[in-house]
Amino acid sequence: MSASAGTLYIVATPIGNLQDLTPRALEVLRTVQLIAAEDTRHSARLLQHFGVTTPTTACHDHNERDKSQRLIERMCAGEDMALISDAGTPLISDPGYHLVRQAREAGIRVCPVPGACALIAALSAAGLPSDRFAFEGFLPAKSHGRRARIQALAAEPRTWMVYEAPHRLLECLEDMLALLGPERHVVLARELTKTFETIKGAPLAELVGWVRSDSDQQRGECVLVVEGMPALPEGDGLDPEAERVLDILLTELPVKQASSLAAQLTGVKKNRLYQIALEKTGKA
Ligand code: SAM
Repeated sequence: MSASAGTLYIVATPIGNLQDLTPRALEVLRTVQLIAAEDTRHSARLLQHFGVTTPTTACHDHNERDKSQRLIERMCAGEDMALISDAGTPLISDPGYHLVRQAREAGIRVCPVPGACALIAALSAAGLPSDRFAFEGFLPAKSHGRRARIQALAAEPRTWMVYEAPHRLLECLEDMLALLGPERHVVLARELTKTFETIKGAPLAELVGWVRSDSDQQRGECVLVVEGMPALPEGDGLDPEAERVLDILLTELPVKQASSLAAQLTGVKKNRLYQIALEKTGKA
């Protein structure tokens, strides 16, 4: 790539409060030759508010693959560009992956301009362990698929997060209640940085009741932050989910491998699972 090639800036924009646009983001949006936006009409409001007059072009899920090549040609010819989505950080449950990948393959410098991101904002205020976490994007819209995904996450020991549409929030919480049990702690982070920002954390049984009884809680944008499966204190009976995982693995694998894998999946200590596996298989 020639030294005169342009740069692709990945620019985070506010998720509600316009003051969350960083000074650096504003400078980049003002000085690049072109802004590729998920929805140009949506972004026009933001750009107008800040007096940004840079030309925009649409780059969304439906045209991204084809459009990327043309944008890359322009960057190779020396133009700087910014990619923005409707809100928050591009590529996080938003378009941009193909453009970034192709730009990097073409040797173009890709430069992140960090800022608002709903999942990080939610995690930072949820009060759940944040040293390790998992982000699952949107769960499937249909109940069958959604339940399968929640079931697959039931034994995840890390805090995990999903984005959810307001009209599916209650159904999703009800599925979580059925599959994760009434005690699992979940934080609902709604309308972050906006006037009606609400961050409510409670065991699932209580949270479902609260959302069900107040339709206002079923409006706006939301993130669910789910406590990972708590590790059992030594000496207690084995959690039914951990036992189920161990039982399945024991049908296919030797005791040592089954307990090691079950430990990774459930967060229960390997030695303890090994002991239980030995008892189950009559080898203790
Ligand atoms: N790229 C964005 C980001 O960085 O957060 C996410 C885009 S995704 C298409 C939109 C989803 O993000 C919404 O459905 C909601 O789950 C979540 N979200 C966006 N803004 C939010 C806000 N202000 N409060 C809570 N959740 C928000």
